[in-house]
Amino acid sequence: MNSQAHANIMIGAFNALPVSWREALEPQRPLLPQVGNYPDYFDDPSKPDEKKDAIDPEWRRFCLFPSGMEAKCLHHWPHSINEQNAFRPVIEYWLQQAIDAYRANDAVGFVKFIGCLSHYEGDVTQPAHLLNHFNYLTILREMMPPPSTMSNFDYHVDLERVTGICGPLEPARLLGTSVVEAAWRLAAWNAQAVSEMRRYILPTLQAIFDERKDEAQRLAEPPVTRAGQFTLDLFCTALRLATGDIPEAEKETLARGVDLRVWKADAESHDLVYGGSAILDGSRPTPPAGAPIIPARLRFEDGIRTVRGLGVLPHSGVAGPRECWLRYGLPRGVFTRFEATVGMHSEETGEGAAEFIVELDSQPQWRSGRRTAQDWAMPISLELGASETITLKVVDANEGRTFWKNHAIWAEPVLLKQEARS
Ligand SMILES: [Zn+2]
Repeated sequence: MNSQAHANIMIGAFNALPVSWREALEPQRPLLPQVGNYPDYFDDPSKPDEKKDAIDPEWRRFCLFPSGMEAKCLHHWPHSINEQNAFRPVIEYWLQQAIDAYRANDAVGFVKFIGCLSHYEGDVTQPAHLLNHFNYLTILREMMPPPSTMSNFDYHVDLERVTGICGPLEPARLLGTSVVEAAWRLAAWNAQAVSEMRRYILPTLQAIFDERKDEAQRLAEPPVTRAGQFTLDLFCTALRLATGDIPEAEKETLARGVDLRVWKADAESHDLVYGGSAILDGSRPTPPAGAPIIPARLRFEDGIRTVRGLGVLPHSGVAGPRECWLRYGLPRGVFTRFEATVGMHSEETGEGAAEFIVELDSQPQWRSGRRTAQDWAMPISLELGASETITLKVVDANEGRTFWKNHAIWAEPVLLKQEARS
């Protein structure tokens, strides 16, 4: 985002705050356009400290991380924007600082820390930042060369120059009942946003190349709005955690745990014939022939039933192991159990067979043994302990002979909290 877009994000979120909070913070309104740009102002090592001090003598408090973190500041964090899970320490740190400032009646500090978080959200949702890898830029230039009148076009800077407004926002969502949970949930939503915002790159480039400025600006609005929503969620989560004022209904929603069917994995590996991803609530006919997705069906003691879950198919083994997997980062001490029901698709699998494996911190902790379409579905309930990742893996159990038919299903996969059903 350019600096105006970062300001729009912060102002859009502020205006959408519940009235009582907004009125209490109203004296800080003049800070909003600036604080949304703090990391850009102060992370620049070529800018002399005197210039930084002139903007805010306290800038080190907001923009420098304490020792023990992986980098000194946001823009030197050593992970790509595609690894949102690795940014959780940054979110945790700033969110905790914002909460501490609010509790200490330091409204100025509170708004500045939220501004830093808001800047990060703007960077996450900015489509041009998704091109920060040399290869992507090259491929994009090859797919969509600029017109001869724009031969110096820069695919990062010139794309980022288009300023979007912040559209209407939904009511704020509580990100978690602790800082750790909030950072984890936001990181997963950020990862979702990173992949969804890519859809604006090509149409925006086309609009710029056609000199349709209004259209380019219209396309810049959804990314700014998404960052505005995340900033509003952060504002309200920080205020709720700082004051301890958390409505029961919101607590209950979060206590239900997380449905992994609709949760973006931090990393995953599938065969390309399966479209490169798990199938929601179904299985994909193979070989791929344009046929519709088949609802997921498992065999139970009392008969065959349609289930909700993730349909997967282990890789053929052409380039690597005959397996497929989904990996999720886990927030420390938030979820206590993983539960699911697993089995092979009762009608599509034929002679196929596979084994389901659940790994915690990359070590197998649960194995189904070889499963076929004739077996009943198997329930899993696994303690998570202090694990930092969970991996749902399926491995071929027929030495590749039934590759096309190994339709495996993780039904109702959930991460549960202590207080939820066991
Ligand atoms: Zn930035």
